[in-house]
Amino acid sequence: MTAWRTWRPGSIHSGSLRRTSEPVPEPAAGELLVRVLACGVCRTDLHVAEGDLPVHRPRVVPGHEVVGEVVDTAAAGPIGIGDRVGIAWLRHTCGRCRYCLRDAENLCPDSRYTGWDADGGYAEYTTVPADYAYSLPEGYPDAELAPLLCAGIIGYRALRRTQLPAGGRLGIYGFGASAHLAIQVALAQGAVVHVLTRSPAAQDLALELGASSAAGAADAPPEPLDGAILFAPAGELVPPALAALDRGGTLALAGIHLTDIPVLDYQRHLFYERQVRSVTANTRQDGREFLDIAGRHHLAVTTSEYSLEHADRALADLAADRVRGAAVLRPTTSGRTILAGA
Ligand SMILES: [Zn+2]
Ligand SMILES: [Zn+2]
Repeated sequence: MTAWRTWRPGSIHSGSLRRTSEPVPEPAAGELLVRVLACGVCRTDLHVAEGDLPVHRPRVVPGHEVVGEVVDTAAAGPIGIGDRVGIAWLRHTCGRCRYCLRDAENLCPDSRYTGWDADGGYAEYTTVPADYAYSLPEGYPDAELAPLLCAGIIGYRALRRTQLPAGGRLGIYGFGASAHLAIQVALAQGAVVHVLTRSPAAQDLALELGASSAAGAADAPPEPLDGAILFAPAGELVPPALAALDRGGTLALAGIHLTDIPVLDYQRHLFYERQVRSVTANTRQDGREFLDIAGRHHLAVTTSEYSLEHADRALADLAADRVRGAAVLRPTTSGRTILAGA
């Protein structure tokens, strides 16, 4: 099969990703073998390829937004050959630590991740522990399901972390892949949404999707907010986002990276029980809840498709902000079926 491996982490323009031809992997005990139908390209893949994240598995195959068909199984359980499944970032937790035992497996110190600790979806075939594979909603083409598996689930977790009351007023700071899915969930749940982002095109998209207002990133929204999500990795937006909160409001910081947060003023930014919380990965429960919502409310997903042969170009385009919507890789063999275990 064709696969892409992170040969030598470094600039995406320096050949850090290399295309290989190799045997189809075999599922270990408890795993499924999956024929990849589509794999989303996430900014985290770029961090893996360019070495911003430490190497966990040398020469790993990136990709953690995988939509595929099960072609072989070494697992007992409900998922069988022919089922369409989703593979996301989280692929192992210990199940025994204090975090796992209190439904916070996203904080498990022994967690492992697809496309970082184990080979992911920049390939024609990949494997996944059956316990970490997701059932997928009907009504979406494969390519549109892929971005739901990272951008969508993380955006949903961030939304949950704001503890937005029913019918509440939500602010969204930064409007990329995660935000454009999170806004649709918030609106479906009855929220009033104000989007604050510097890009005029993103502001237009926000209004198209149903935002009540769209303005510049550091502008004040037209009314106080019950909750806010900061998707932009810009620490300087934390003070204006906190200042925009109503009494008791919560700001969730959705990014893995954030630039320095300026000094906060207790009275202006925190008093009246305003809170600031971070968001770290997600639990499987978050994923199941979000995919269930996506099954009941059709989410508009914009994708740009690339053939698997052009994964390096997709990542280069992402690095240069040239991708419209979410980039998704499609293996050219995705119409072909193979025999189980072949
Ligand atoms: Zn654990
Ligand atoms: Zn991701």
